[in-house]
Amino acid sequence: MAEEKSLNFLEEIIENDLKSGKHASIVTRFPPEPNGYLHLGHAASIVLNFGLSKKYGGYTNLRFDDTNPSTEETEYVESIKNDVHWLGFEWKNELYASDYFEDLYLFAIKLIRLGYAYVDDSDSETIAREKGTPTMPGTNSKFRDRSVEENIELFEAMKAGKFKDGERVLRAKIDMSHINMLMRDPVMYRIKHAHHHRTFDKWCIYPMYDFAHGQSDSLEHITHSICTLEFVPHRELYNWFIEKLDIYLSHQYEFARRNISYTVMSKRKLLQLVNEKYVDGWDDPRMPTISGLRRRGYTPESIRDFCDRAGIAKRENVTELSLLEFCAREDLNKIALRRMVVFDPIKVVLTNYSEENEMVSVEDNPEDVNGGFREVPFSKELYIEQDDFMEVPPKKFFRLFPGGMVRLKGAYIIKCDEVVKDAEGKIIQLNCSFISESKSGNDTSNIKVKGTLHWVSAAHAIPVEVRLYDRLFKVEDPSSAAGDFKDYINENSLEIIPEVYAEPALKNAVTGEHYQFLRKGYFALDKNSSKDKLIFNRTVTLKDTWAKEVKKG
Ligand code: ATP
Ligand code: MG
Repeated sequence: MAEEKSLNFLEEIIENDLKSGKHASIVTRFPPEPNGYLHLGHAASIVLNFGLSKKYGGYTNLRFDDTNPSTEETEYVESIKNDVHWLGFEWKNELYASDYFEDLYLFAIKLIRLGYAYVDDSDSETIAREKGTPTMPGTNSKFRDRSVEENIELFEAMKAGKFKDGERVLRAKIDMSHINMLMRDPVMYRIKHAHHHRTFDKWCIYPMYDFAHGQSDSLEHITHSICTLEFVPHRELYNWFIEKLDIYLSHQYEFARRNISYTVMSKRKLLQLVNEKYVDGWDDPRMPTISGLRRRGYTPESIRDFCDRAGIAKRENVTELSLLEFCAREDLNKIALRRMVVFDPIKVVLTNYSEENEMVSVEDNPEDVNGGFREVPFSKELYIEQDDFMEVPPKKFFRLFPGGMVRLKGAYIIKCDEVVKDAEGKIIQLNCSFISESKSGNDTSNIKVKGTLHWVSAAHAIPVEVRLYDRLFKVEDPSSAAGDFKDYINENSLEIIPEVYAEPALKNAVTGEHYQFLRKGYFALDKNSSKDKLIFNRTVTLKDTWAKEVKKG
């Protein structure tokens, strides 16, 4: 990756605007609809908007786009605020589109008075039919030429609750044969007798997205209003309202949505996974939500790094899930505390060992110059991994085999002397001898071994549960595969190992701390852990680290 990163197209636009004096500083906003939890796509938008205002001096507002009363909930508002903070960003103002309901209503009255809006009594089918098609012009509604007075009176009646849902709408009067379908007299207000999470029952008319977003941007003097590509055709309408209302001119810019392989990223689809219990809530560690990634053990640094590396584009594209995992490893390698956990144990008995209560010092993180050491109990009976032993090893097998030697991480070199089997011939124990002069840090044995194994003391190990995750979907792009996206769920995306054996230091594990289980991956404590039952989620595997560990010894 180049050290000097070239500017993305938005940075170029902003630098030009600052140079030309068009803006003295910049204001951006992040405008989530509080109808679900934030996901990695939102993270892209957050990193972009907050990143730009930080880089160029300015600020970012957090604005909840809460114009649709039926899908929005306070729980979502709280989770969104929490996630943005956790990602490491501070907004200047916490705002709501509903803060502007009064302003928007007055804007609507102004457009009616200017002859740019009218109340339409047609039902939705008629309105849709009269809209025409991309190749056929629409036809004017028979209510289009009402007088200003009549429109004002009807709009007031809509607001006063005199009509039922769907009986009237307020429409902009633009051009029913416009080549941009969105410009064919778009609906500005609809009637909805619904309870709103902030304005409660004050309003029964609600502005449409197109009549709310641009004006909200304008009221906040947003200099660069950044959204995703599907809003390109909306830009013309965005500008039309601002121009006719003669208010502060915000500019809309579009970039390509973040899509990521092997997952889905629309709140509607994620909600289905939650409601239909394919996953354990919005923060299931397999979800591409910020809360799911946090629970799984991803760090905010790794998510920000991912957003930076993936960059922003003007064309649709798919980012590899493996890039996210790469970013996680990069960060976790620097910060994770090393711990030893044996998943599938085989007992090792050191026949010539008779110490009691020996502790060995093992480094917490060799990547951290300030990293300390921890004391790990060593004893006569240990566990190592089953698959770190082979009775008949292939060539270049550097782990344990009869007559072979390995180092136990941070402790001694041991030699396998005897394989003990039960009546059925199953290996139940390895009798080994330890080399007393080979203690790590004070090794005078002159014996060179190629393999280093993780281990735990059988008497001191604590049983914990681990949860291993795989991709949530079996195909790269479940959203565009034939049929329902849920047909492609990977039914093996969660593997629970109810009992593995951890070194005792993990008793003090806390959420928010990250661990590398040597040779097993990066792990984080799950929120459902209790004192009596510790549960660890595997954030990401180490990949290729076996080779590295061997070299380090
Ligand atoms: P969804 O389809 O998941 O519901 P949305 O676009 O409706 O997403 P909003 O809450 O309206 O979600 O989005 C808030 C902001 O986040 C918007 O500016 C939107 O453009 C941006 N955003 C949402 N999804 C993505 C994505 N996949 N990539 C980049 N930006 C996104
Ligand atoms: Mg939306």
